[in-house]
Amino acid sequence: MSNKFDVIVVGAGPAGTSCAYECAKAGLNVIHIERGEYPGSKNVMGGVLYRQQMEEIIPEFWKEAPIERPVIEQRLMMLDKESAVTIGYKGLEFGREPYNAFTVLRAKFDQWFANKAVEQGSLLITETVVLEVIVEDGRAIGVRTDRPDGEIYADVVVLADGVNSLLGKQLGFHKEFRPDEVALAVMEVINLPSERIEERFNLEPNQGCTYEIFGDATNGILGTAFIYTNKESINIGVGTMLSGMIREKLRPHDLLDQLKKHPMIRPLIKGGEPQEYLAHLIPEGGYRSIPKMVGNGVLVIGDAAQFVNAIHREGSNMAMTSGRLAAETIVLAKQAGDFSENMLDSYRMKVMESFIGKDLKKYEDIHHFERAPQYFKEYLPGINRAASEFFTVDGTPKRDKQKKMLSHMMQGKGKLQVFNDFYKAWKVMK
Ligand SMILES: Cc1cc2nc3c(=O)[nH]c(=O)nc-3n(C[C@H](O)[C@H](O)[C@H](O)COP(=O)(O)OP(=O)(O)OC[C@H]3O[C@@H](n4cnc5c(N)ncnc54)[C@H](O)[C@@H]3O)c2cc1C
Repeated sequence: MSNKFDVIVVGAGPAGTSCAYECAKAGLNVIHIERGEYPGSKNVMGGVLYRQQMEEIIPEFWKEAPIERPVIEQRLMMLDKESAVTIGYKGLEFGREPYNAFTVLRAKFDQWFANKAVEQGSLLITETVVLEVIVEDGRAIGVRTDRPDGEIYADVVVLADGVNSLLGKQLGFHKEFRPDEVALAVMEVINLPSERIEERFNLEPNQGCTYEIFGDATNGILGTAFIYTNKESINIGVGTMLSGMIREKLRPHDLLDQLKKHPMIRPLIKGGEPQEYLAHLIPEGGYRSIPKMVGNGVLVIGDAAQFVNAIHREGSNMAMTSGRLAAETIVLAKQAGDFSENMLDSYRMKVMESFIGKDLKKYEDIHHFERAPQYFKEYLPGINRAASEFFTVDGTPKRDKQKKMLSHMMQGKGKLQVFNDFYKAWKVMK
């Protein structure tokens, strides 16, 4: 093996593999380095993979990729102690080609995807940690790994090393992330026979559904819990901003235990066999936390660049698109024989012009909700009480009921304050 390549890609998650795949397909000499025993062995995801961005890399991938179920229903659950207000959408069109999204198990999916990059000619090496990026005269020229004689050189190094990218930090591209820039998530994979999943979630075989759960699931702090259906298992998890967990002295596994015991959730997972327990950080700092993503001979993609849209639960798709855009830029740089920051900066521009930059910019004020606990701690239980009032038939005239519902929702606050809170929330989301 020669130790000089066109491209070194660090990390075999969806970002790194997309980039390795596209670069190898374009005929570049790619080495793809992963510290895990195999791609996916160190990766954690609730499990919803979006069709569009994956298909831009491998058309009709679902015909051979290890997917679990096409997602045909998505529910949002506002959970209180003993109640839940649920809204959602179920559409049979999502169960037919070309599909919208799938549940996947990353340990299987990432391996399959990385092997597709190998088929294109990428050289995958696993169980290898990249210790540092080698920089000479202000330009990245390779990486040093933990293998004996482990220096590898390339024209360009792509950092796809995930959230809290140590390599990006070493290059001075970002500082240590603050606790209000990352969420800590824990999840469990619980085995259940497929027929039971289908009965409990009102599904046919080869149909899946997702629940995003707010409110009591996170003790009212900013974050969500989730339940996703696989073929013969359920992923259940909860994630909140690290800052909220520290402030409220919460332990993530306590939140997950509490969620599993909640009377609205318990029947869904009853009798299941816990198979796996996983914990991981999610970069949720949004637009204002995007680090420097281009340098001389180096590009940063995926979670390492903080590309996660927490409101829409999108991360893997942003990882894939950023990997693809990085590859497009590298191919042009190779043709020009120029790997300077100036040349590679077109990657940054492409990202900012894509849905990644636009969506992260749209929600750049998301941290308002972290500083304003009243939404989840007060208004959300108020909505539950108002719904209970609405559905209770007790002879109260409807006009009086409406007044009661409004007073539940206002939670004893003045009209001005309620207006102010909802105006601010609207401004964040608009
Ligand atoms: C609990 C949870 C639920 C989620 N749910 C969803 C969801 O439903 N849908 C969705 O789209 N997104 C979801 N996400 C986000 C999604 O998982 C990430 O956005 C996505 O995995 C990012 O891909 P990536 O390739 O950038 O990083 P990763 O998938 O983290 O891959 C980084 C890789 O780099 C390797 N690596 C790191 N450092 C080194 C090194 N020094 N040397 C060699 N290898 C290294 C790691 O082992 C890893 O394999 C979720 C995340 C979590 C934690």
